[in-house]
Amino acid sequence: MPTDESLIHVFGSLLGDEELAEISDCIDRQWIGMGPKTAQLESRLAQHLDVDELVLLNSGSSGLQMAVHLLDIPPGTGAEIIVPSFTWVACASAILLAGHRPVFCDVDKTTLNIDPESVAGAITPRTAAIMAVHYAGLPAEVPRLKEFGLPVIEDAAHAIDSRHEGRACGTLGDIGVFSFDSIKNLAMGEGGGLVARNPEHLRRARDLRLCGVTSTGFASAREGGRWWEHRITDAFPKMTPSDLCAAVGLAQFRRLRSSQQRRAKLWALYQQALAELDWLAVPPEPDAGDRHSYFTYCVQVRDGRRDALANHLLERGIYTTLRFHPLHLSPLYGSSVELPVSERLAETALNLPLHPRLTDDDLDRVIGAVCEFAG
Ligand SMILES: *Cc1c(COP(=O)(O)O)cnc(C)c1O
Repeated sequence: MPTDESLIHVFGSLLGDEELAEISDCIDRQWIGMGPKTAQLESRLAQHLDVDELVLLNSGSSGLQMAVHLLDIPPGTGAEIIVPSFTWVACASAILLAGHRPVFCDVDKTTLNIDPESVAGAITPRTAAIMAVHYAGLPAEVPRLKEFGLPVIEDAAHAIDSRHEGRACGTLGDIGVFSFDSIKNLAMGEGGGLVARNPEHLRRARDLRLCGVTSTGFASAREGGRWWEHRITDAFPKMTPSDLCAAVGLAQFRRLRSSQQRRAKLWALYQQALAELDWLAVPPEPDAGDRHSYFTYCVQVRDGRRDALANHLLERGIYTTLRFHPLHLSPLYGSSVELPVSERLAETALNLPLHPRLTDDDLDRVIGAVCEFAG
């Protein structure tokens, strides 16, 4: 395997002087915890998503855990939440942590998004909610999922710039969760966000993120009385973001348009170069009027040589991976369902490098190596 410096990474972010200046401002103010930068980023993101409010958190995984908690489904009653198997661990674990049962469904073989037919087949009298993922940022069919009459949680970790019929992904269902971890389209280091249709959910999310504590001393001191005494509404983990991370997020937000343009350009070049290859299936384009976030470029190798392709690329200094490994195959969740599309993806799918730091030369190298493998 080539040295780390020459390796082309599969995911990445673009950071520079703007991020440094924002961090430096935090240090100058002697304020690195949750504070003004957090509030500023919350309002920028809310505006970007056309909602009144977004609650910033320490991660997207925390956001999923909070989203399930906010639905107030009584724990230990055998309640089920339907979730695609082809997603990140935190989706299913959030359901388990809240005392419910994850029920895995399949994804569509082309979009890699939750398959409403598979959801229909998984619904039982115990189904309490549906969780959907906008894979790579391609809008999932949330309006169709809402027809089941159950609360819908959207995992919009890949979809900060995605729109369905003009509306931002994450705001189509009941609760939407974003991730701003170090490899996502808007990278804070660690961070997440939660939006909700119900204002009460947003109010509670603000208390919950601070260990379920309402009205902290500093904010309520102006109201007089014993401001140091607090009220605890829930026993809940700490999920507060920090201004240090929000500072990076603010600079990243200002470059979002240009980094999204770069991602879209790289995506288009891949499509042009690889769509012709008959042994490879390229990812679909969004429906007319919808917008993609181009978080990752996932191909499917049709001739059974996926592992060989991954090794061929690695030998040439190109790191690839597969996001995600089907969760229903993990013994942790004790699932016995068979989900043919997710299981097939585990054998055929591969994510190729796509991120704003990728140069034209890097892309030529990747495309050249893929085409060479074919020949
Ligand atoms: C990254 C990711 C998450 C989790 O976000 P973190 O901020 O890393 O905790 C959740 N769901 C999906 C689909 C993701 O890709």
